[in-house]
Amino acid sequence: MSETIAFLGTLDAEEEADFLAALAAALPEETIRPFRTLSAEERAAIRIAIVANPDPAEVALLPNLAWIHSLWAGVERLVRDLGGNGVPIVRLIDPELARTMAEAVLAWTYYLQRDMPAYRRQQETGTWRQLAYRPPGETMVGLLGLGALGSAAAERLVGAGFRVAAWSRSPKPVPPGVAGVSGPEGLAGLLATSDVVVCLLPLTGETRGLLDAGRLFAMKPGAALINFGRGPLVAIDALLAALDAGHLSHAVLDVFEVEPLPPGSPLWRHPGVTVLPHISGPTTPASSAGIVAGNVRAYRATGRIPQAVDVARGY
Ligand code: NAP
Repeated sequence: MSETIAFLGTLDAEEEADFLAALAAALPEETIRPFRTLSAEERAAIRIAIVANPDPAEVALLPNLAWIHSLWAGVERLVRDLGGNGVPIVRLIDPELARTMAEAVLAWTYYLQRDMPAYRRQQETGTWRQLAYRPPGETMVGLLGLGALGSAAAERLVGAGFRVAAWSRSPKPVPPGVAGVSGPEGLAGLLATSDVVVCLLPLTGETRGLLDAGRLFAMKPGAALINFGRGPLVAIDALLAALDAGHLSHAVLDVFEVEPLPPGSPLWRHPGVTVLPHISGPTTPASSAGIVAGNVRAYRATGRIPQAVDVARGY
């Protein structure tokens, strides 16, 4: 009989119940219990914690933790709050999440390539005007980030006929049809030539504020931005300035420094901005529970902790 697995999160009651039910179904041989129901003695025996935005003070009350499994793909908060305590953090790498994100990248790329923001504005003023059609083969999409999500998005875009370049931290093999770039020159070239820039980077010390005024104004005139990574990757004042100056045509933003986006934010009402409520790549209980189950079973069978986040690198 394995020891209990702790579940820690700041989810609402319904969400927590959904995740616990999915985990119980995926791992019927394990006992998974919310942290608050565990006695001090039981907490001392915990080796594995499954977490979704956990309170770091609660994690600190598990003195014998061997590893933490996050239910989210983005781990900047865990790295910040728990990275220093030496317990390996395993993040969610879920093909279903990658598929959903790739679908969102394609959908919102079409939204921009087919000039939907401009037609929306034309309708508001009763304007009948046909804009020049730009086919996918003449539309360059630049992806920032070529990890689990960026790679899936790149393949989907190539399949739809778009020209695709992708920037990663280190040079690496790229999906067929994708131009892979890295380093500062790679970034500069991608920004200068892309009609649509899609940000799928993790938030780290290196990437925070990456799209600042200098880089936004170095984008191709008339280009558009999609940010599906994390809010602080983009300097919002600079983005608004680039939109107001007519240098950029539109921004689709799914992630923000503060979420939910505060009612007073100028982004809500800006005609050049589409605000989405962090929905591009949702974690679904059933599919994430399946990934967690695979990792827990492999650990039980081999004693080896699954590949963990590189805390020094930040992702
Ligand atoms: P990943 O597999 O870790 O890939 C990260 C990519 O970013 C890698 O290609 C990496 O380069 C690149 N990168 C990291 N730091 C860089 C730097 N300083 N310069 C250049 N490239 C850099 O992550 P993922 O699973 O694709 O997820 C990416 C992010 O998406 C997550 O961290 C999360 O913030 C966000 N996300 C958003 C949603 C949503 O609903 N909006 C959902 C899930 C995830 P290398 O290949 O060289 O390592």
